[in-house]
Amino acid sequence: MALYVHKYGGTSVGTTERIGKVADRIVKARARGEDLVVVVSAMSGETNKLVAYAHEVQERPDPREMDVLLSTGEQVTIALLAMALQARGCPAVSFTGWQVRIRSDAAHTKARIEHIDTARMQAELDAGRVVVVAGFQGITESGDITTLGRGGSDTTAVALAAALKADECLIFTDVDGVYTTDPRVEPRARRLERITFEEMLEMASLGSKVLQIRSVEFAGKYNVPLRVLSSFEEGSGTLISYEEAGMEKALISGIAFNRDEAKLTILGVPDRPGIAHKILGPVAAANIEVDMIIQNIGADQTTDFTFTVHRNEYKKALEILESTCRELGGREVTGDDKIVKVSIVGVGMRSHAGIASKMFEALAKEAINIRMISTSEIKISVVVDEKYLELAVRTLHEAFELDQAPAAA
Ligand code: ASP
Ligand code: MG
Repeated sequence: MALYVHKYGGTSVGTTERIGKVADRIVKARARGEDLVVVVSAMSGETNKLVAYAHEVQERPDPREMDVLLSTGEQVTIALLAMALQARGCPAVSFTGWQVRIRSDAAHTKARIEHIDTARMQAELDAGRVVVVAGFQGITESGDITTLGRGGSDTTAVALAAALKADECLIFTDVDGVYTTDPRVEPRARRLERITFEEMLEMASLGSKVLQIRSVEFAGKYNVPLRVLSSFEEGSGTLISYEEAGMEKALISGIAFNRDEAKLTILGVPDRPGIAHKILGPVAAANIEVDMIIQNIGADQTTDFTFTVHRNEYKKALEILESTCRELGGREVTGDDKIVKVSIVGVGMRSHAGIASKMFEALAKEAINIRMISTSEIKISVVVDEKYLELAVRTLHEAFELDQAPAAA
């Protein structure tokens, strides 16, 4: 019998009525003869509420206790869904993460799954029951409750699908798939039938928030076909898998963007070995993640150095850089937190030259000034002024004809 793992996010189980709708969908899948393991998130807003409570009683909440608290949200929805299934005459049983022994490391609030014991789930499936499992939670070797990071239910679902060797992992959410770009920015954005793990990983890390990044990594590593689809409408959604012959042969699959960017520049620092380390070392030591980096060719034995950080870290990074500048005898520190990053993503880039110049040409035609560029094998990112974000996304969408389905190869 085919085995599927379904995952329903917070909005899909946000009310008891919606939980009923989820149960209806599961009953239908059962009637098609499918075996099902269902992972659910907490009701939408619940986890945020719990986080807020924690901060009301402790300035920096203890991570172990935070996990005890946060894991309660999912315990509510698994029980309610199992009840809703039973009420429809469908045998079902719920389990917390520790009951099925989703063993994780001890990194509280961002734990990683290390092992899953499938025996109990398999026994329940064999007995003809739908198995409902709490997303987002695990247990350490020594028995402490952990959580897997915000949005972690996606990862639970993929991990269960890998462990149980499920045929597919279906992520039901409030959008009906993965789009060529955010439809709120470009209404002509098109739902993709398929996308590769690699592309999805880039899209997710570049700001497309459909799936938790870790779940995509996990699915790629264990080759679990992953499908994103709407829990409110019928439809086949978007399949995320390895590249296969006959897949859409697009040059570019999507355009991602990130509004949370800021850039900093240190001007006129001595151009000598070790300078990058001197500049970025203190930034890293403050736990600030650096994304793009540019060092200019030096003139007069000095050079300029620019890098980007998350906008939330801008002020902190600026302070650090100013002190580094004094230390190194640099000329000046400048910064800009009104910038965004726009990226085109596609495995098709590997085998085609000229994608970058096509991108730059399209932006130039609209007089959009490119402030920084970075490339990888399947992605090209540019930094532009915030005010050009929408225009840049639409221009590139048009230039690469993303509104039209590419011909199958
Ligand atoms: N309830 C958790 C969160 O809000 C996990 C999840 O929804 O995936 O982050
Ligand atoms: Mg979620």
